[in-house]
Amino acid sequence: MRYYSTRNQGNYTSSAEAIKQGLAPDGGLYVPSSRAVPFKTDNLPAGSYNEIAAAVFKLFLTDFDSADLEKAIAAAYNEANFAHPSITPLRKLSADLFMMELWHGPTCAFKDIALQILPHLLNTAVRITGEQSEIVILTATSGDTGKSALEGFSNVPNTKIIVYFPAGGVSEVQQLQMTTQEGRNVGVAAVHGNFDDTQNGVKEIFNDRRLTGQLAEAGYRLSSANSINWGRLLPQIVYYFAAYHDLVSSGDLRPGDMINFVVPTGNFGNILAGYYARELGLPVNRLICAANSNNVLSDFINTGIYQSRRPLHRTCSPSMDILVSSNLERLLFELTDHQAGVITGWMEQLMKNGEYKLDKGTLTKLQDLFWADYADDRETLQTIADNYREFDYLIDTHTAVARAVLRKYRAREEDGCLSVILSTANPFKFSGSVIRALYDSEMYRGVSELDLLNILSLKTNNPVPPGLAALAGKPVKHKQVIERHNMRDHLLSTLELI
Ligand SMILES: *Cc1c(COP(=O)(O)O)cnc(C)c1O
Repeated sequence: MRYYSTRNQGNYTSSAEAIKQGLAPDGGLYVPSSRAVPFKTDNLPAGSYNEIAAAVFKLFLTDFDSADLEKAIAAAYNEANFAHPSITPLRKLSADLFMMELWHGPTCAFKDIALQILPHLLNTAVRITGEQSEIVILTATSGDTGKSALEGFSNVPNTKIIVYFPAGGVSEVQQLQMTTQEGRNVGVAAVHGNFDDTQNGVKEIFNDRRLTGQLAEAGYRLSSANSINWGRLLPQIVYYFAAYHDLVSSGDLRPGDMINFVVPTGNFGNILAGYYARELGLPVNRLICAANSNNVLSDFINTGIYQSRRPLHRTCSPSMDILVSSNLERLLFELTDHQAGVITGWMEQLMKNGEYKLDKGTLTKLQDLFWADYADDRETLQTIADNYREFDYLIDTHTAVARAVLRKYRAREEDGCLSVILSTANPFKFSGSVIRALYDSEMYRGVSELDLLNILSLKTNNPVPPGLAALAGKPVKHKQVIERHNMRDHLLSTLELI
């Protein structure tokens, strides 16, 4: 399987190169250049999580050795890294409603599933391609990717990891998780502005030939741990198959039955993995895209107009506070049957005018498969409370957005399919909002999120996850707050080049 850029089909490259580079040199995203042969419905990948992972990885990383892939999978998905033996267990709330808990990894959010394996894939890619430079992972984060990437890459040999997050744009726990990070090879800085500013700052660094040239001379090569990297996206395809397999094994689903997945969406990585799973033969009825009040994506799916020029709201689901969803570019490339010229045109309009409009044919294809709506903070918090009362089960704010949107879907569409909600964060990671949702919000005003962890634990009789409990005793190591136009200098000084 070869890869090429969404903005230029001329340049074929191997999967190892695509993972090593992260972003294509023309600013596009790497995608598989041909369709993988789909699995047959009566022969979907089965077995343990790791066996399913191996079946999926082998389809896409054809220049990797099977033994290397199996080693990487075993090093990532094990009981030292994940607090549950099934890795992504399902929780049954009712006969037609399941939660897939994607947050049993070290940082309590779903990003761990990809970022626990990405360093192993990247190391293998470096070896396969004979790369001599040291890899510098640059990451923009809306909150969860940063910590997951730091966990995955800290102290990995021949690698540096630098994370930028929007100052004031992440939760207190998320910020502490990053600023207390240990490791010889890590850098963390807050950037004035919002996530889109931070993400654009990183993309500009990638596209700055003079700077990348200077880095190359010094023996460094940039790569990305954001979901613009194919190596981030691929591991996320696996759990869609794992969920289906588990449902069939438990007798909750007949083999071949269609199901819906409901995905709380920001950068469109998680839900895009669901699209690829469907392309590979998984019986998916609808992919339901749930947005918060930054509802660019739900507007887009409902109207075909992507309109990013609007104020960014800081919501209680900060990992979805995004106006420009990078991975949508990959979906559009697929839906237009790989027309790089069309995609480049839309992306240029987005850059210039903050907006583009799909043609009718592409919009129809999009709407056949995706359904979208959004939930604001009030609905989100109400949903956390309702869900707790109804099922005695705590969900975080992001998962609650998905739960609220599924309710809207069911009110409007006739559909008897079983639905799986992708639960993307442990509720303790957003304990401030969860407590506000469940109890008298005035009572806890001004209490720090670290104290709220314990209060939530006592009140709901759930343990604080160990990674979050440990934050209280850790010194803050990374205190820098920089301007967006200083990100280049920050990078150079972190690498001791200025
Ligand atoms: C990153 C994140 C999301 C959004 O996922 P995308 O792949 O960016 O769409 C949702 N919830 C949580 C908790 C996240 O960390």
